[in-house]
Amino acid sequence: DNDTLQQLCADLDGLEISTEDRALQRYSKDFAWFSPVLVEQLRGKQAELVVKPSSEEEVKRVAAACSKHGIPLTLRGSGTGNYGQSTPLHGGVLMDMSGLNQILWIKDGVARVQAGARLVDIDKAAREQGWELRLMPSTYRLATAGGFFCGGFGGIGSITYGSIGDPGNVLGVRALSMAEEPKAEELRGAEARDLYHAYGVNGLITELEFALAPALDWQENLLSFPDFMQAVKFCQALGSTCGTMKKLLTLLADPLPQMCGLEEQIAPGHTAVVAIVNRQGMDALHELREKFGGELVEEQSHAEVFGTTKSMIEHSWNHTTLHIFRKHKDITYLQSGFRPWENVEKVEEMHRHFGDEVMLHLEFLRADGAVTCSGLQVIRYSNEERLNEIIQFHRDNGVFVSNPHTYILEDGGKLTVDPGQLAMKRRLDPQGLLNPGKMRTWDEEAAA
Ligand code: FAD
Repeated sequence: DNDTLQQLCADLDGLEISTEDRALQRYSKDFAWFSPVLVEQLRGKQAELVVKPSSEEEVKRVAAACSKHGIPLTLRGSGTGNYGQSTPLHGGVLMDMSGLNQILWIKDGVARVQAGARLVDIDKAAREQGWELRLMPSTYRLATAGGFFCGGFGGIGSITYGSIGDPGNVLGVRALSMAEEPKAEELRGAEARDLYHAYGVNGLITELEFALAPALDWQENLLSFPDFMQAVKFCQALGSTCGTMKKLLTLLADPLPQMCGLEEQIAPGHTAVVAIVNRQGMDALHELREKFGGELVEEQSHAEVFGTTKSMIEHSWNHTTLHIFRKHKDITYLQSGFRPWENVEKVEEMHRHFGDEVMLHLEFLRADGAVTCSGLQVIRYSNEERLNEIIQFHRDNGVFVSNPHTYILEDGGKLTVDPGQLAMKRRLDPQGLLNPGKMRTWDEEAAA
């Protein structure tokens, strides 16, 4: 109510706050417009106050005040999530973390950063010392360290390093509890990973420690293949070669190149592959390209285009989806995972079965030590029944589908609560005030 909000404003005196409707609307939204289902479900959901702290002390003051008044608190990095992760479902305070943007230190292959630091800035700072980020989403120019860890999965670099939640990629986090006297805890290893992909429901992260990779001289390549399956086999082979370093390996089946802005480089009917490999790996790339009948249509130095829209990263992960959505109507998308060892055959099966209705965008990556692929399939949408049939056919054939049309943690991925995430919520947010409504198991337990 208004009185509580006034008291809260008094408690936050001196901090950068806004209750202006335009700011509330803007900060309460992310990229959930990718899903027509989420657009409906999230309509009108917004914060009552936006605050932008610039230090951990200020974050503590916000947490303390919200805890005292029993007000929901939702965190936001840059708001590039796809599932309304940072949209407050029950009003309250939206805390913009982008003011905590310091890179604290970089040494011995490790970077310690504040949660609101942008990934592009971390990567650039690491490069000055001969290191680079292992992983980043295609939104790296905007996305923050905390938002990537709490809302993301992987992306550029996943072909070598898997996911940001894989042990060893994030070494530790500093998290505050939600309490009238918030405590900072340094969580390492598995405990830190209990906050991975938890949408900020179980702790306020103020700092993260990323393991880095040695910086390499990367080359970006765009290839064209007349035959779809040969392109798939090329990616599987290049992804699996041990002597060549890889940063990105994306496949776009016909007609996706024509739909996402590659129509000048890729002929109709052809499959496009974006491969970012180390410069010394170019010979191996050409060997495999010839073996599988591909043609190199463009190459450029990654360092020269990094951080700009000229980088071929723009044609990978959900950036491809973004470009297609902007130009085309009556389409939707899926996120799927193919099991290692059988992924090539399963891709062929799906391609044969659905043809043009399910257009294959594959991202090759390493999972549990093996090279496989995930799919960001673009689907010609007819109706919901048909969409569900398509999803079911994938599942019946051993292809994992994670639903991008839900903001509920459990429904997006494993369909069950992560016990570590739940235990961490009990520990750091016993009042249940952090981003409420996103973790179903917690809400059900609270209601019982
Ligand atoms: P936000 O969206 O602001 O937040 C994400 C979640 O983290 C929210 O639930 C928020 O409450 C929580 N959070 C933020 N900061 C903190 C904190 N300090 N402590 C606790 N919780 C916090 N994702 C990928 O993984 N890979 C991709 O390649 C990729 N490509 C994308 C392409 C496009 C075009 C779009 C629109 C999205 C893409 N995404 C991708 C999703 C998203 O961009 C990334 O996951 C990104 O890392 C999110 O960062 P952010 O700072 O914008 O986080």
